[in-house]
Amino acid sequence: MEPRDLSDHSPYVPGRGVEEVARERGLDPDDLIKLSSNENPHGPSPAAVEAIREHADRVNQYPKSSHTDLTAKIAERWGVDDEQVWVSPGADGSIDYLSRAALEPGDEALVPSPGFAYYAMSTRYHHGEVTEYALTPDDGFAQDAETVLRAYGGERIVYVTSPHNPSGSTMPLDEVEAIADATAPETLVVVDEAYGEFADVDSAIPLVDERDDVAVLRTFSKAYGLAGLRIGYSVVPEAWGEAYARVNTPFAANELACRAALAALDDADHVEQSVETARWAREHIESELDAPTVDSAGNFVLAAVGDGERVAEAAQERGVIIRDCTSFGLPEHVRISTGTREETREAVDLLNETLADLE
Ligand code: PMP
Repeated sequence: MEPRDLSDHSPYVPGRGVEEVARERGLDPDDLIKLSSNENPHGPSPAAVEAIREHADRVNQYPKSSHTDLTAKIAERWGVDDEQVWVSPGADGSIDYLSRAALEPGDEALVPSPGFAYYAMSTRYHHGEVTEYALTPDDGFAQDAETVLRAYGGERIVYVTSPHNPSGSTMPLDEVEAIADATAPETLVVVDEAYGEFADVDSAIPLVDERDDVAVLRTFSKAYGLAGLRIGYSVVPEAWGEAYARVNTPFAANELACRAALAALDDADHVEQSVETARWAREHIESELDAPTVDSAGNFVLAAVGDGERVAEAAQERGVIIRDCTSFGLPEHVRISTGTREETREAVDLLNETLADLE
């Protein structure tokens, strides 16, 4: 027995890890600065770590109330009903739950290109087809309804990423509304706000409550520093709430992750500090890096460096791990995640040396 034909399914390519690079280059992992996966350089909230410790010796039991407690807390925070919050293993899990709830075999999803790879992957896993709208470097990957609607052809899902990965550009809320208006009633507009905390623009979540065709993705992986736990959620229209029980994986998200997320939500100082650092660091990269950059609202900056693979490779030799954007279809760009102030300063200096050397 063989697996079915999976040749249309590309594996997800994550940013390179510290251990992997250190082993390969014979370096001490502590000497490396990892700015390739948009992680939180401050680590998780200490309160989240404490919550994990407190519950670690009870993981022999299936999850109990933590999941409903987390759902209720998120719902209260956004002023929506509990049923509208779909807790999931990362925002990735929510993408899967929405694919399952929205797509019949052969249905299409319209995704940004370049863009986050998992929209297309999940669509294909669920026997859907992928179409694309283009965002381009010429205008700083500007996002508006016209760009999306030009490519629109009745897809069941339209994905919007705001802030956009890998560029950091945002889609104004009135443009999201214009897309939803133009694509009603057959389309769900999914606004991915995985990096929403870092942006200066408002969340689209109030739109979810006003209409029946917008959903929003959020995660604890970035500003909350819980990427390793795989915990995120979507906020869905009221009428979709009932579908959750039919499409989620049993228990939907794990106990330690839910406990940690509950504690992290209460640690406002940690999130505030994380956001402040990211905003400082992206400005530092934008102003000090000797290469053209795209204005970013996220915890990363896209830079045009000529040959991204070569620059990323040479940067690794100097101890800085950044993301070569060839897999995003941007071979001339690298994406640099924001680190602590110290890491970011050091990384920018090392990257400038790298760029000068390669000239
Ligand atoms: N959306 C975007 C735009 C992302 O960049 C990521 C993570 N790289 C995700 C969603 C998924 O985040 P997670 O599954 O860790 O919550």
